[in-house]
Amino acid sequence: MIGEKPVAATTDEVVAELRKRKAFVMVSHVKPDGDTLGAGLALGLALKRLGKRVHYFQADDSVPRNLRFLADADLVSNVVPADLPADALWVFCDMSDTARAGESLPPLSRENILDIDHHLGNSHFGALNYVLPRECSTGTCVMHLLRAMNVPVTPEIATCLLTTIMTDTGGFMHSNTTPEVLLLSAELMGSGADKDQITEEIFANKRLPALKLLGRALNEATLGHDGRYVWSYVDDAMLAECHADGEDTEEIIGHLRSIEGVDVAALFKAYDGEIRVSLRSNGRINVQSAAARLGGGGHFRASGLTFEGSLPEAIAAVDAALVAEGL
Ligand code: 5GP
Ligand code: MN
Repeated sequence: MIGEKPVAATTDEVVAELRKRKAFVMVSHVKPDGDTLGAGLALGLALKRLGKRVHYFQADDSVPRNLRFLADADLVSNVVPADLPADALWVFCDMSDTARAGESLPPLSRENILDIDHHLGNSHFGALNYVLPRECSTGTCVMHLLRAMNVPVTPEIATCLLTTIMTDTGGFMHSNTTPEVLLLSAELMGSGADKDQITEEIFANKRLPALKLLGRALNEATLGHDGRYVWSYVDDAMLAECHADGEDTEEIIGHLRSIEGVDVAALFKAYDGEIRVSLRSNGRINVQSAAARLGGGGHFRASGLTFEGSLPEAIAAVDAALVAEGL
């Protein structure tokens, strides 16, 4: 240990641990996205090929509709099997702290935790922390492990991994789309990753309620700070009016961010008894730091938080946090 945090684990250390353990639980964060699920499923599928026992855990009741096409997605559950061995390794994918896994997680000792992530603010909560902030997705961290383990990347595994990349690069549009990312993606397509299916399932295939909700949220959009900031909200009434649910809010923040002249966009998701905030930046303002001021986190250009209080309080608090970061 150096200071308070264990040092980042090397690829060899993680591979040795994966080889040693016999049972695994892949853990996704709440409101799972293509990276947390794709990374966990890819590693789980690979470990199963090595004869290991693998379970997939997420706190939410079901896998988001647009990710159910991934192999093994039907095995993801919020129930931990009663006969799970005590030395099973819990592999957390794509989260900076264990709280992101939700409240239904059983108590775990650090020695049984492997933390695989690409968030800058990762708290190094595992015995091993494979945290690579330069990677575009947690899935590409997994890809490096699979390479080192010499396990064949099947088309199913490749599709899971390409999903992590396409999710976290916004379909190769975000600034984290480096030449290396494109090379890794080409390699995955060479292994049989179905890019067209990912495009169809995640980027096309919109439900009408989602588009109606987008319209409602854009209608409520408010510019501030001389047009450099835009915010909007979605509440229970808007969801009901559009026959939409939380999964249908995904696209809204990207549209807000794409407004000309806007440096930072915020979406306040005030439904189901809580207020979740999504923040996106064009690169001038660090929204990870802004979210961290309010107990959240994420990346420089994409972050989120849960706010305790009313919607007007959330709007004021986020405004103040962004101003403190230079908005
Ligand atoms: P989203 O707006 O899509 O929910 O989240 C954007 C980014 O912020 C993701 O990288 C996600 O992991 C991170 N993020 C969202 N909510 C939280 C949170 O409550 N805590 C932390 N630490 N990160 C979050
Ligand atoms: Mn990610």
